[in-house]
Amino acid sequence: MTQRQTQTQTQTQTQTQTQTQTDVIVIGAGPVGLAAAMLLAGRGLVVTVLDKDGAQPGGPDAVGRAWREWHRPGVNQFRQPHVLLPAGAAVLRSSLPNVVAELRELGALSLNILEGAWRLPALGGRRPGDERYDTLTARRPVLEAAFAAAAARTPGVTVRRHIAVSGLLAGAERIPGRPHVVGVTTQDGEEIHAPLVVDAGGRNTPVGALLARLGGPPPVSEQADAGFVYYSRSFRSATGTPPPPAAWPLVHHDGLSSIVLPGDDGTWSLSLVVSSRDRALRALRDPRAWERAVALFPTLAGRTDGEPLTGVQAMGGLHSRSRRTVVEGVPVVTGLLSVGDARAATDPQFGLGLSLGLTHARVLSEVIGAAGTQDPVGLALRFDEATEQTVMPVHQRLRHWDTHRLAEIDALLAGRRYETEDPGWHLGNALDALKLSDPDVLRAMADVACGLAAPEAAFSAPAVSGRAAALMSANGASNGYGTRPGPARAEVLAAVGAVERCFTDSGGTAAAGAAPGTVKVTGTSMTAGQTGFGIDGGHDDGE
Ligand SMILES: Cc1cc2nc3c(=O)[nH]c(=O)nc-3n(C[C@H](O)[C@H](O)[C@H](O)COP(=O)(O)OP(=O)(O)OC[C@H]3O[C@@H](n4cnc5c(N)ncnc54)[C@H](O)[C@@H]3O)c2cc1C
Repeated sequence: MTQRQTQTQTQTQTQTQTQTQTDVIVIGAGPVGLAAAMLLAGRGLVVTVLDKDGAQPGGPDAVGRAWREWHRPGVNQFRQPHVLLPAGAAVLRSSLPNVVAELRELGALSLNILEGAWRLPALGGRRPGDERYDTLTARRPVLEAAFAAAAARTPGVTVRRHIAVSGLLAGAERIPGRPHVVGVTTQDGEEIHAPLVVDAGGRNTPVGALLARLGGPPPVSEQADAGFVYYSRSFRSATGTPPPPAAWPLVHHDGLSSIVLPGDDGTWSLSLVVSSRDRALRALRDPRAWERAVALFPTLAGRTDGEPLTGVQAMGGLHSRSRRTVVEGVPVVTGLLSVGDARAATDPQFGLGLSLGLTHARVLSEVIGAAGTQDPVGLALRFDEATEQTVMPVHQRLRHWDTHRLAEIDALLAGRRYETEDPGWHLGNALDALKLSDPDVLRAMADVACGLAAPEAAFSAPAVSGRAAALMSANGASNGYGTRPGPARAEVLAAVGAVERCFTDSGGTAAAGAAPGTVKVTGTSMTAGQTGFGIDGGHDDGE
């Protein structure tokens, strides 16, 4: 602990509960907030992390109790499937080895993302260099427990739970007409002051709304107009041996995607992901319908042979969104920086949210290491520039993919084939279709999927682009994949007992034979204009 940290902690303890001072306030004790706090404390700063939720339950069986009992209403996806991909694991290994140690202590699973693919004879097994796909993963509550334990042992970090931030404090402006944040207020009426406030409040951070109350020009906020809905279940092996790893965890089928993720302690999860505009497949929230659908997919065989740890957990509203606080080269606010999902939340299908957030936390720490916190305008500009160069290209790429995939599903629902002139979409699909038959394509795809390389770099090797070009020319240049693997949508609808709706490209749906203004949704009915859809496991509404 530095002398400054010792002094300030002592001051903090002796001051009244109504006004405190620290070097950095972090809003949100999720993985990214805690990672940022630990990295900044490593630079000698005193960091106070505030979270509206409580701590994990104490006592024996920490892992079991974190999974079963930790109440985390602040994170809707808390019991949804998660994997930490190699890019995130690499950040932990190099910058936060204390988190790695806690993960190991809690029984996190060490695995290589290509383990399943190595079993396929066409791919020729393990190659030198494949260790870059090594990772360490666990169910989300276990991952969080490891971050919390590491933060609790980090000098200079104080984590205060059950403290909801309800306002931002403004001081003398550093740029005329733009608020300068000098602290926060909490729901209990406490004021906490700091030269820097870091928003790590996640996908539904309140900070956008709190900032609006201070006046000044708004940030640039972007949110996709549609997203995806997850229908997930977690299982544990009854024999202690989980099914072998999937050859590739994420498969895009005809109108839905499936994800199989390994977890700690003999657990795994299986998710079906559908478009939020696909009303017919909302039938998947019924466990019997979900099981009948899963049974249709050869790639999912044996993946439900275990003790179910959850029912079907549905989560909707998974739109990609971002908020940028430097507009036309000028910060709209100073003294406040956003990291992780609070800055940009991506489509979770690709499992890159944690990796991007951890990378972003490290970028924040590096920028502060170079620029300090004394010049808030310079800091805002440097952090924005670094964010645009590191995490935002990935966010934009995933968002671009979402736009195509959702349009492809819209076309399917409208009974036509998706047409686009974008060669990148066809190339990506061709490589996706080839990856389990070509070891070079496999690794190019894995580099991109694991967050280790940009597509431009990974796909440029002649062995990779040449194979894709050959497939596209065989299928017709505007069709990268031929047909999607697995059953046709009609078979899935029949299995779940859902009615196909005539889908219009304007986004409306109508069931054949349904009363005007009414859309029948597998046993229940809702009016056509109704947008809410009663998802059991939480609906991520945003602000
Ligand atoms: C269904 C789903 C599946 C996903 N699967 C994966 C995956 O497999 N791999 C992966 O890498 N990523 C995955 N993600 C993304 C991942 O969950 C996020 O990227 C990650 O949680 C971001 O971490 P964060 O710390 O930025 O925010 P969060 O984890 O959301 O944490 C935000 C914190 O802020 C707190 N907070 C909010 N408001 C306040 C307030 N007013 N005062 C105080 N505290 C507040 C909350 O309580 C919470 O603790 C998935 C996401 C979803 C939705």
